[in-house]
Amino acid sequence: MLDARLAELTRCLPDLRLLTAPGDLEHYGRDWTRRWTPAPLAIALPASIAEAQAIVRWANEHRVAIVPSGGRTGLSGGAVAANGELVLSLERMNRVLDFNAIDRTLSVQAGISLQAVHDAARGHGLLYPVDFAARGSCSIGGNIATNAGGIRVIRYGNTREWIAGLKVVAGNGELLELNRALIKNSSGYDFRQLMIGSEGTLGIVVEATLKLTDPPPPSQVMLLALPDMDALMHVFALFRARLALQAFEFFTDHALKHVLAHGAQRAIDGDYPYYVVTEFDATDERVQEVALAAFEHALEQGWVSDGVIAQSEAQATALWRLRDGITESLAPRRPYKNDVSVRISAVPSFLHEMRALLMREYPHIEVVWFGHIGDGNLHINVLRPDGLAEEDFITQCEHVTKLLAATLQRHGGSISAEHGIGLVKRAYLESTRSAAEIALMHGVRKVFDPNGILNPGKLFVSD
Ligand SMILES: Cc1cc2nc3c(=O)[nH]c(=O)nc-3n(C[C@H](O)[C@H](O)[C@H](O)COP(=O)(O)OP(=O)(O)OC[C@H]3O[C@@H](n4cnc5c(N)ncnc54)[C@H](O)[C@@H]3O)c2cc1C
Repeated sequence: MLDARLAELTRCLPDLRLLTAPGDLEHYGRDWTRRWTPAPLAIALPASIAEAQAIVRWANEHRVAIVPSGGRTGLSGGAVAANGELVLSLERMNRVLDFNAIDRTLSVQAGISLQAVHDAARGHGLLYPVDFAARGSCSIGGNIATNAGGIRVIRYGNTREWIAGLKVVAGNGELLELNRALIKNSSGYDFRQLMIGSEGTLGIVVEATLKLTDPPPPSQVMLLALPDMDALMHVFALFRARLALQAFEFFTDHALKHVLAHGAQRAIDGDYPYYVVTEFDATDERVQEVALAAFEHALEQGWVSDGVIAQSEAQATALWRLRDGITESLAPRRPYKNDVSVRISAVPSFLHEMRALLMREYPHIEVVWFGHIGDGNLHINVLRPDGLAEEDFITQCEHVTKLLAATLQRHGGSISAEHGIGLVKRAYLESTRSAAEIALMHGVRKVFDPNGILNPGKLFVSD
């Protein structure tokens, strides 16, 4: 028999698609973390803004918590529904609404995938530049809610830079139209920016107007093998000074091992502890000479041990796969993830302290790191060894994360660079934000969501 609250919802919205089958509850109740047991009340799939608003009003009336849900590729438990919440999936609201050639904007419904946005922009001869490996399944709404970064931040910045306007259903059901896609708008508080990165705790993004830009110039892709960690920032400084970088990503030999086991092709013979994939503008043939000269210089300095420059698009794709495929290759192991950032200038000292900490605290546990080193962003993936109970593993990881958070605090960094706080990192928010800031965040939440129905338990330890 249908829960009385759900019966009321279907009475208000007879056309609403509502799922309650156990398989659906499990599917929509979790994200990529796979740590919590999904237990939502039901899944609502509105097809319009009006339906989304009516659901939020119903949730206020019946005090039902709502978990806004995109592609559930999130890595911090933000879209997890484990406590009888209603999952509000934007999956059916996935259309391109408008392209404006003069404004160079694309208006979309929030459930559209990042890949579909890329395709639509390309179809108009333009680029939506935020990009990362989950592009086929993550949604623009989720990207906005987490201020997603990815592999092109070094050139283009985070999602935040690319949002011209938003339509958001606030926690009281009201529809807010934020910034009207204006370039210039000095008329008070910019709630659009407040919504970006708010992890579904202030409002449900239902539509977005995205800025587009010129397609990138032709580029070249290079893979470098490095002898040690100190070389990393030397190579970064060298390449950034001589080339127009589009991406500069690093990974370790452990990451390489997993991605090769997952089907990627080895591109450099031999074993090296660190690798870099970099992509740079190649507007004329001299660029290849400049890149090779930079490589030679790095070789002489002992900063690189080997390298390969892609000679075809297929080879460039194969080199990128070594970096792009890491998260997916680790997924079956359900790693415990840290996603941290410091200023680029603080990377060398932070890396040393962090490495010493990880080696000391995880002596018999495999730790895989990789990341967007050109943005000061590192992903640390801790793999549970066979024979160690999940609960004990998490306890150990939480202990190390506390130490890591203290290290980050000393280096002026953040416990969440781009994945969001969600459930995974809420206990460490205060290592990145002051008590005064957190108090203000709670106050802001009360204004937009007076009854605290939007994604309770996420971002903050207590609502
Ligand atoms: C293989 C892989 C690689 C990845 N690489 C990167 C990377 O390089 N950079 C990066 O930043 N992330 C990366 N991620 C993480 C993830 O893809 C991003 O966090 C992405 O932005 C999440 O989008 P989603 O639609 O899947 O959101 P979900 O997981 O569904 O939700 C994430 C959060 O957003 C909220 N939310 C979702 N939709 C809405 C909405 N419409 N309105 C309000 N709140 C909403 C949810 O409640 C939740 O708090 C990667 C993930 C995978 C699996």
